[in-house]
Amino acid sequence: MPGGGVADVVVDGERITAVGPGVASEVATSVDGSAMLLLPAFVDGHVHLDKVLIRDELREHDGSLTGAIDSIHERKRRYTVEDVRVRARSVIESSVQLGTTRLRSHVDVDTIGGLTPLEGVMGAAADCADIAEVQTIAFPQEGLLRDPGAYRLMEAAIEAGADVVGGMPHWEVDEPAQREHVRMCFDLAERFDRDLDMHVDETDDGGVRTLEMVADEALRRGYFGRVCAGHVCSLASAPHDYAERVIEKCVRAGISIASNPVTNLVLQGRGDRGLVRRGTTRIGELRAAGVNVLFGQDCVKDGFYPFGRGSMLEVALISAHAAHLTNGADLAFALRAVTDAPALAWRLTDYGLVAGARADLQLLPVPSWEEALRLQPLPEKVWFKGRLVAENAVESKLHRSS
Ligand SMILES: [Zn+2]
Repeated sequence: MPGGGVADVVVDGERITAVGPGVASEVATSVDGSAMLLLPAFVDGHVHLDKVLIRDELREHDGSLTGAIDSIHERKRRYTVEDVRVRARSVIESSVQLGTTRLRSHVDVDTIGGLTPLEGVMGAAADCADIAEVQTIAFPQEGLLRDPGAYRLMEAAIEAGADVVGGMPHWEVDEPAQREHVRMCFDLAERFDRDLDMHVDETDDGGVRTLEMVADEALRRGYFGRVCAGHVCSLASAPHDYAERVIEKCVRAGISIASNPVTNLVLQGRGDRGLVRRGTTRIGELRAAGVNVLFGQDCVKDGFYPFGRGSMLEVALISAHAAHLTNGADLAFALRAVTDAPALAWRLTDYGLVAGARADLQLLPVPSWEEALRLQPLPEKVWFKGRLVAENAVESKLHRSS
């Protein structure tokens, strides 16, 4: 078990029905997990499935966020539903093999790709409905005021089945436009009764402060516990008094923060000399204040990030380096950031290793979470809704001379 205890977990159909020592004495079939680690399957709370695996087809760029967005434009114009669907499906499948059964995917909605990315990802989600659950977030990657026509497409995306309203206010040209972008996203969310999951302040520029606009709007409208803000990099560069003020507002509004250190480590800090910023938000301060902080994969071999394979174990390890997570409580926080925290941001009510939860589970061939982080093993078994959906076996040999 995650906390180091030993217990039986009884599954009946899609649900966990009992957890505790000795509760499995009457079951018909069982899996022996002695000396192994049983975890709830990971939740990837922030990924872009429409963009995955396009890296080899893009021109080289300067490695920055802006460079990446621009480099994708040409490829995005050539997207087809089937092209997006095949790539997204491939990453959903590899994510499941690596222990993740729920993914929350941003999907570009703009006048370049129209609704093609959404249709492709929704198609992949349908293809994979037997092994994973995928939520889609309508994401105006190119802005709303900067990209006239995007707002109507956002409406169409929600009507077509996108689950969550996205946003990217810092991409607008000035503060009034950023504020208007935030207002438009909340209007849309209220009108369709959807949660919000926005890209917020993904820049080193500490003067960019749309997080406070988002928090103020959530507080004004009473949108408590229904907003997730992704990246929030500029908070690290902003003055401490601003950071303290806005973190307190995030606590009051129940805003989750999707920090994605894996990608921001390579995207941000590119203009720095000497002491190069890590690009991550104030993870320690947000954690200390009680904010729900999650770690997402964000990108898999796209214009932003050349690596990634849908491994939340890898995401947790890299994030632990980025956020100075080393002691026992820190590593428990890292586990939470790829399990309970994204589940809370998603407002899942059936998640975890508890009776009544959906039986999305993984069995890792290590005795503890700390060893899982260190050794990065493949899960031996992964279950989705109580059904075995993936198995991994690794054979490794060492040939000594005598
Ligand atoms: Zn993102």
